[in-house]
Amino acid sequence: MDAVFFDLDNTLYTARHNLFNLIDVRINRYMHEVVGIAEDQVDGLRRHYWETYGVTLQGLIHEYGADPEHYLDYVHDIDVPSRLSADPALKQALNRLSARKFVFTNGSSGHARRVLSCLNIDECFEAIFDIRVSRYIPKPQEPPYRAVLAASGADPRRSVMVEDSLVNLQTAARLGMKTVLVGSAQQTDCRVDAVVESAQEAAGMIQRWREMS
Ligand SMILES: [Mg+2]
Repeated sequence: MDAVFFDLDNTLYTARHNLFNLIDVRINRYMHEVVGIAEDQVDGLRRHYWETYGVTLQGLIHEYGADPEHYLDYVHDIDVPSRLSADPALKQALNRLSARKFVFTNGSSGHARRVLSCLNIDECFEAIFDIRVSRYIPKPQEPPYRAVLAASGADPRRSVMVEDSLVNLQTAARLGMKTVLVGSAQQTDCRVDAVVESAQEAAGMIQRWREMS
């Protein structure tokens, strides 16, 4: 395995940190205060957008002509250091993983940089691919996967995707990538190559794969 693509939120740090909830609150506020959607309709619309478009942003672009850059700045304006701190064990595991390492997120690169900086792992990655990589089209749709593979020059058959989202991993598998789910085994009624509890564990396991191949 030559290249490893790590999702960011709830993958490089665990959901226990409740960081993503802060973004959730900002998304709701954006829909109400900026777009002008009635408060009691926000939750239902978000569910509808998730099912129809994969992310809220695409729904707001299509149905309200929202400015994606303003949206990304607004929803990621959260206090990351209040929830995350340096993770030296993760850093050590990433440094021991001798493959090329990338971040591949549906969020913004600015948010990704703030998260990596708080975890003190910003120097572990060659590049960050964010939702701009394929004109704001999110995972699990195929275009951003094709875009990151093309931009990195990585061979999908020699690449791994590490994610907390099973549906995002299914696209990676379809493109020939190996898949590692960060989460619990109960989630895996679909096929993944491995299930781990943390990104640290994923990095160690993928390094062992490298040493065996
Ligand atoms: Mg995630």
